[in-house]
Amino acid sequence: MKDQRKNNKDQRRKANSGVPAQQQTQQQAPAPAQSKSAPRRRHQHEAPPIKFRFVQLNCVLCGEVIQEMSSAIAYGSFGEPAHFECVQKKLEAIENLSPDEKIVYWGAGQFAIIKSTPETSFSIVKKISVEQKDLIPDWRRDIKTQVRSNE
Ligand SMILES: [Zn+2]
Repeated sequence: MKDQRKNNKDQRRKANSGVPAQQQTQQQAPAPAQSKSAPRRRHQHEAPPIKFRFVQLNCVLCGEVIQEMSSAIAYGSFGEPAHFECVQKKLEAIENLSPDEKIVYWGAGQFAIIKSTPETSFSIVKKISVEQKDLIPDWRRDIKTQVRSNE
């Protein structure tokens, strides 16, 4: 009995001596700061009062939660969800628009640069496809399921 207790004590001392006390405190210090700057996860938001799983994802362009998933754009080659407004702003930044031109949604995954003209109301300068034609990303499938279960 006596010997066993002595062994335990020795083991404990060995374990403690491995890490200096200073190093331990240094490792613990940055932890709260890290959790503060960590990106928001959707499970932290309050669950909406509906039975089925609510599709809520973050915008690939600004990182904020997309509240209206039905208006989200499947952006880029992977069809990641993005705010309609963010895609619009992004295109405005990419395309060198002249003062009388603006970006509008054309439909079917396309935006268009339109130009105001005195004769007609506007003319189309260019159409820009932001969604892949045959790509239906998982999040969009989920919305369809959601809408169906709502009916
Ligand atoms: Zn956004």
